[in-house]
Amino acid sequence: MTKEDIKHIKQLLAKQKNIVIVPHKNPDGDAIGSTLALYHYLIKHKHNATVMVPNDYPTFLKWIPGNDHILKHDSQTEACETLIKSADIIFTLDFNAFHRTGNMETVLTESKALKIMIDHHQAPDNYATYMFSDVSMSSTCEMIYHFIDMLGDTSRIDSNIATCIYVGIMTDTGSFRFPSTTSKTHQIIAKLIEKGANNAEIHNNVYDTNSYERLQLLGCALSNLKVIPESRTAYITLSQDELNMFNYKKGDTEGVVNYGLSLENIVFAAIFIEDKQEGIIKISLRSKGNFSVNEFSRVHFNGGGHTNAAGGRSELSLKNTIEKFISILPSYNKALNDD
Ligand code: 5GP
Ligand code: MN
Repeated sequence: MTKEDIKHIKQLLAKQKNIVIVPHKNPDGDAIGSTLALYHYLIKHKHNATVMVPNDYPTFLKWIPGNDHILKHDSQTEACETLIKSADIIFTLDFNAFHRTGNMETVLTESKALKIMIDHHQAPDNYATYMFSDVSMSSTCEMIYHFIDMLGDTSRIDSNIATCIYVGIMTDTGSFRFPSTTSKTHQIIAKLIEKGANNAEIHNNVYDTNSYERLQLLGCALSNLKVIPESRTAYITLSQDELNMFNYKKGDTEGVVNYGLSLENIVFAAIFIEDKQEGIIKISLRSKGNFSVNEFSRVHFNGGGHTNAAGGRSELSLKNTIEKFISILPSYNKALNDD
């Protein structure tokens, strides 16, 4: 995003606008945090701003300031589409292509509103008038801080905005441990705490509100963990029956894939989760070091994301998906044993 772009955006935002803010489908902490942070910021500037998510998100995100104002496109389709059609500006946050919004793809593609993308995923599509795309960023939330900073407005960051931004940086960095966490990230976190983000409370709300069943499901996932030492790979499966047994709720499997990576000498971890309703296997991939799960997912599993964290899907059965995964792995043995 150039200085010229920022100047134009400032001019645009000088007058009251109808603004819609959209994250990706199955929104995570960064998606909800960044959209709500921007929402609070725009509301302060008296815009008519609405956050609109493609579908529901986990309960452990439902305490975030502004949560009650979020519209859900899948259950409030008409209200959402009316707002999109009358929007002057649409901010698209934490995704890089309209298909990442699921059923919102058509209405977004057809919309004549000016689009502003703020995102840190690789290989962004070229739909936005103004694009703030930076794959080196820890999170879209960190980019929202920079965006407000570029607008010369950090003095307007209040405890609500600070809390929202904190959530997304915390969740997308694995609580400040992934390599994308820089000294700048920590400097921003320090400023957010000064502005009223309560770090202990935020961690508690997101990580220490598990249900008993969620922990039992984690136990099941860990007992399904398999290791392929020659590929330095670990993977977990969860069938629909297993999810049902533990009364699965959205978000219950979030973060489970990371346990594979906590094994000594493992650099590639995967989780395969059966979704009978959608008729797919949802895949999450994580890596350490140079092995790009973004590329792996793009080539084999219809997905993408970042070098060390990506998602994908398979339309095969759970068993056949695993067989496919295991058959592909040997061709990556060299890359996986490189570090
Ligand atoms: P998760 O495994 O948590 O679903 O996703 C990991 C990361 O990859 C997240 O940043 C998510 O937004 C991104 N991601 C997940 N699925 C896809 C996909 O199909 N395409 C792209 N480009 N990114 C994805
Ligand atoms: Mn993100």
